[in-house]
Amino acid sequence: MECRYNISAVQQFSSSAVQQSLHLSLSSSKNLIRRCLGAVKRRLVRYSRIASDFSRKRDKYCIICGHKVGRFYPYGVSDEIFTRHHIIGGGRRENCICPYCGNVDRNRWQYYVIKNFTGLTTEAGISVLHFAPEPSNSELIKSNPNCTYITADIVPGRADYSADMTNLHQFRDGEFDYVIANHVLEHIQDEAKAFSELKRVLKPNGKLIISFPICTDILTYEDASITTEEGRLKAFGQEDHVRLYGTDFKEHLENYGFDVKVYRPEGELSPEAIEKYALIKDDVMMVCSVRE
Ligand SMILES: [Zn+2]
Repeated sequence: MECRYNISAVQQFSSSAVQQSLHLSLSSSKNLIRRCLGAVKRRLVRYSRIASDFSRKRDKYCIICGHKVGRFYPYGVSDEIFTRHHIIGGGRRENCICPYCGNVDRNRWQYYVIKNFTGLTTEAGISVLHFAPEPSNSELIKSNPNCTYITADIVPGRADYSADMTNLHQFRDGEFDYVIANHVLEHIQDEAKAFSELKRVLKPNGKLIISFPICTDILTYEDASITTEEGRLKAFGQEDHVRLYGTDFKEHLENYGFDVKVYRPEGELSPEAIEKYALIKDDVMMVCSVRE
C-alpha cells in the first residue's frame, strides 16, 4: 500500500513546528517577564511618589481617587510639534499624574464632565458603548447599577469587543444612549465613516462624549499622503496620529451633523479649583447630540 505521507516532509514540518512553538513560547515568556517588570517598576514609582507626598503640605485634591495631594507629578514629552504648536493636553505638563491613582490631568477632566454634566451615573436603563476605555471612567460608569456597559477597542483583548470605529457591524442601529470616545479620532483616517457609524449606533436622542488633542493656533489639518510613522510624527506629533484638530474643532463636528456642547475647566470652575484639582484650564470635553 502506498504511503500517503512524505516522512521527511512530516519530520521537517514537525521540527519546524517545534522550533516555531519554542520560539513563540520563548517570545511570550519574554513578553510576560517584560510586562511583569513594567508593572513592578510602575508600582515602585507610585509607592515612592506616595511616600514623598507625605512630607508635603497636601493642599491639592484628586477628584478621581479622593486623596489630598501634596504634588501632582510631571508627565509628557516636549518634541518639535509641541514646541511649534500649543496642543491642549499635549507636551510636558508639570502637574499631571496623581501619585495615588496614577491618573493624568485629562482623565480628571473627563471624569468631572461625565460625573457632573451627563446622565451616565444617574440615568436608569441606559446602554453605553465606551471606546478605548479609561479605567477610572469605566469604574465611574459601572457604579450606575442600571446601565448596560460595553467596551470596545481596535486592539483585540483590551475590551469586550475588538471593533473598528469605521465598521461597527457588531452593533445594531440605535443601540446606545451614550458612546464615549476619548482620544481615538485622531488615529482614524476615514473620519467621515467613523462619524457615520457612531451616528448609526446612537439612539435618536443619544449622546456622543468625545475629546481629542486640539491645537490652539491652527485650523484642523490633515494630509492623507503622509503615511509613514516618521512623517506622521513630524506632521501630527505622534507616529499613529493622522490629523491635528484645530480651533475650528466645534464647527468640524457640527459639519458631521452634531450639535456640540463644549466643556472647559475655565468655563465651569474657579481658578482656585482648577489649581487644586490640577486640571488643564482650557482642556476640552464635548457632549454631542445627533442633529435632527
Ligand atoms: Zn488620584
